[in-house]
Amino acid sequence: MVEYSDEEYTIQDFTHLHPLKLVDSNHKDEVICSICEELCSSSSSSTYGCMECKFFLHKSCMKSIPRQLINHHIHPCTLIFITYPYGGDECACCGERIVRRMKFSCGACELDLHVKCAIFPTIDSEDAKEIQHFSHPHTLALVQNDEEYGSEPRCVACAQICLAPAPTFRCSRSCDHFFLHKSCYVKLPYNSVNFKHPFHPKHPLTIKSLPYNDHIRTCDACFRGIDSALLAYSCQKPECKFNLHLDCYNQLSSITFRGHQHLLALLEKTPDVTCHLCGVNYRVAINFQG
Ligand SMILES: [Zn+2]
Ligand SMILES: [Zn+2]
Ligand SMILES: [Zn+2]
Ligand SMILES: [Zn+2]
Ligand SMILES: [Zn+2]
Ligand SMILES: [Zn+2]
Ligand SMILES: [Zn+2]
Ligand SMILES: [Zn+2]
Repeated sequence: MVEYSDEEYTIQDFTHLHPLKLVDSNHKDEVICSICEELCSSSSSSTYGCMECKFFLHKSCMKSIPRQLINHHIHPCTLIFITYPYGGDECACCGERIVRRMKFSCGACELDLHVKCAIFPTIDSEDAKEIQHFSHPHTLALVQNDEEYGSEPRCVACAQICLAPAPTFRCSRSCDHFFLHKSCYVKLPYNSVNFKHPFHPKHPLTIKSLPYNDHIRTCDACFRGIDSALLAYSCQKPECKFNLHLDCYNQLSSITFRGHQHLLALLEKTPDVTCHLCGVNYRVAINFQG
């Protein structure tokens, strides 16, 4: 990243198509930074802007923007910074329209994020005692005393037993099985509608509790059963019956394998496996060396 001296009157930065001019400090309380969305006078940082586009940035915010985000917690694909003249797309994080002429974007999944939502993720409130989470229809309350845990409280995200003093949320109504570590909640703050996975590129996957019935769902990555009390990634089209453990989803997203153009997971047992993308029957053989 290039260092700009405060004296520089005009700069060219990848965050905007046109040259940006230094904004007189007397006018900083009239304009809003397009990245942090605060008044430009809110920070002592100098402010640059394009009058024609009504586009303004704190210099400090401008310097915090990378050209791409890798392994972002909201979306596993590489997200590219894009400037564009007009707004209109919806942010996959907060659901609001993106109006500030720039976004982070995954072209393959057609997913867009506000720069602010991608760079400064916020949890509703650090010390919230009651929250709403997309994975459950009822509000979740912070567990206050040990009796509330019941007999075997298991977290719906990580499947581990919830023990004090790790902060845990539980269903505020009568769903005895629904517990969620606060730390797991922080990792899953957003609904993942419109996330397409390389193993199932046709339809978006959502995180949800699988329906309770006699039919045992299996994970399409590890071929093990998915406990119906746990959250899983699931295709929205019921006829697909495509499900993934949360962990398997993350692994699949990050592991690539030389010699095969599609993503592969490391499988402990390797029965004959058919690649979901190309349909080729493929025996996975991986040797660990070290
Ligand atoms: Zn700013
Ligand atoms: Zn401009
Ligand atoms: Zn947003
Ligand atoms: Zn993507
Ligand atoms: Zn957990
Ligand atoms: Zn409930
Ligand atoms: Zn699995
Ligand atoms: Zn599907």
